[in-house]
Parts: sequence; C-alpha cells; structure tokens
Amino acid sequence: MQVLSGKDVAMSVLEHVRKEAVIFGEKYGRMPSIAVILVGEDPASQTYVAAKKKSALELGYGHKDYHLSVHATQQELLELVRELNADDDVDGILVQMPLPPHMDENCVIDTIDPAKDVDGFHPVNAGKILLGRSSLVSCTPKGVLRIMDHYGIRTAGKDVVIIGRSSIVGKPMAALLMQKGRDATVTVCHSCTLGLKEHVRRADIIIAAVGHPHMITADMVKSEAVVIDVGITRVTDLTKKKGWRLVGDVDYDNVAPRTSAITPVPGGVGPMTIAMLMENTLQAAQERKREQKGE
Ligand code: NDP
Repeated sequence: MQVLSGKDVAMSVLEHVRKEAVIFGEKYGRMPSIAVILVGEDPASQTYVAAKKKSALELGYGHKDYHLSVHATQQELLELVRELNADDDVDGILVQMPLPPHMDENCVIDTIDPAKDVDGFHPVNAGKILLGRSSLVSCTPKGVLRIMDHYGIRTAGKDVVIIGRSSIVGKPMAALLMQKGRDATVTVCHSCTLGLKEHVRRADIIIAAVGHPHMITADMVKSEAVVIDVGITRVTDLTKKKGWRLVGDVDYDNVAPRTSAITPVPGGVGPMTIAMLMENTLQAAQERKREQKGE
C-alpha cells in the first residue's frame, strides 16, 4: 500500500510555480498577484485566508487583503469585486466562502471576471471544464488529479466512484475524469443514492468528498482500490493541545491495508488545494498578459 502524500506533491508544485513566477516577473516587471476577500469573522475562513496569504507571500506574489465586516452589504462586496476586476495589477480574485447568509454567493461568483477567477467557480470556467476546454480549474479536483498523475495512477477505463456532488468538488471532479484523456467511467453518489455501499465496492478508484468522518469503512472498499479522501472535519480531541484534530471521510486505519494507494488526512488533498490556487494565479497572470500583448 502506497501513501499518496499531497504534502510532497504540493511542495514540488510550489517549487515549479516559484520558478515560473520569477520568469513572469522578469518578463513583465511585476510578480503575479492575488486579491483575497474575507467577509465576517468565521474562524475556519480566517485560517484558510491566512494560509493562502502565507503561501502567496512565500512565492513573492503581490497580495491584497480585504476584510469586510459581517454587516457589509452585498452591494459593497460587489463594488469591491468590480474594482478588482478593473485593476490591471490584480491577476486573481478569491472571495472566501461561505459568505454571511444575507449575501448571494452565486451573484458574487458571477461578478468575478472569469479570467481572474482563480477558484474556478465562475459558470464560464465550470462550463469549460464540462466541455473539456482549457480553463481555470477549481483547486481541489485539480489537486486530486495532480496527486494521481504524480504517483502514476491511471484512470483510463477505471470505475471511479465519487461520493459528493458539490459544485466545488464532486461535480468538477466528475467532469474532469470523464473527459477524453482521463477516460474514467464515473459514478457520482450523494445523499439520495440508494445502495451506496454497493456502488463504492465496485470502484477501482474511490473519491470521498462528503464531510462525514470515517463514513467509508473497510467493508465498502474493493481489495487494491485507490482511495482519495477529500473530506476534512474538525473533531474534538482533548489529547491535542488545540483540543481538536482533522479527520477525513475514510476510516483510514482499517481501510488503508486493503488499498493499493490512499491519501492521508491531514497531508493528503488539503495541501494540494492551496498549491493549485497558487498555480491558478500564475496561470491567470500569464494568460492575461498574453491576451493583452496579443501573444
Ligand atoms: P458539501 O457539503 O457542499 O457537499 C457534500 C456532499 O456530500 C453533497 O453532495 C451531499 O449530498 C453528499 N452527502 C452528504 N451525506 C451523504 C451521505 N450520507 N451519503 C452520500 N453522500 C452524502 O461539501 P464540499 O463538497 O464543500 O466538501 C466536502 C468535504 O470536503 C468537506 O469535508 C470539506 O471540508 C472537504 N473539502 C476539502 C478540501 C480540501 O482542500 N481538502 C476543499 C474543499 C472541501 P447532497 O448533494 O445530496 O446534499
């Protein structure tokens, strides 16, 4: 059984991105840059935003930070997004989700310039993924593919079962895997799926993206399957200094021995998401400049 270390893959991705960003900087006189908007005080969102900032600064990227009050209006947020759309020195715009309940997330996503949509959530980018066209691809599914590529896990002709159909993980993951070149036979399961266990047990590759700790148990996994655990849930753990730890959707200790390869939590898909965000920011910067210069 091979442990698929997203942490190692992320490090090598970031090393490559760092070199490419320097080349970009030399060519265009500035580094790629990202603007991150946080609305409200959600502690998990604050942690994610801080991690994204750290990664951007480590790469020498330009970084703009906006923290709006939980009472900010949707109009204020949309105006800020439009300002950033018009700012030529900003290559990527990320609005940290979830937004407070009085805001319409879809409307905010729709307002971001698709060329700067480094999360890959805009309908134009999501649609291009479905059509198999080049686009900014949402970071988590992109990270899953990169882990599989790095470790030589082939998907052609394989039965892939994805559990979870969100717009940020399950759906784009399915769209990517069914494209020519990936050539997987994809099944997407969700909360209304009947016979989940039977579906999962058929899979050569299982991708769990639900957010229910340890729901994928050893009896659901075919011998020698590949298991990718996207789920991340904080559970109380008083043996830890911080009082909690992160667990995945997969019952790792019991499932791992049955698999040919598996991602751990933490250290699996998680680190890839930020690495892919940094790569998307570089890609957005390069594509915008090429477009402007007619290259
Ligand atoms: P959502 O809550 O948006 O989606 C969860 C999906 O799981 C839904 O499609 C839901 O079905 C499905 N589901 C819920 N219960 C069951 C069940 N009993 N059986 C089968 N399917 C079920 O979550 P996200 O996609 O945003 O995230 C999923 C997990 O991945 C979370 O733990 C999240 O923290 C983690 N995550 C990790 C990232 C990383 O960087 N590693 C990045 C993004 C997310 P239905 O549609 O019917 O409600």
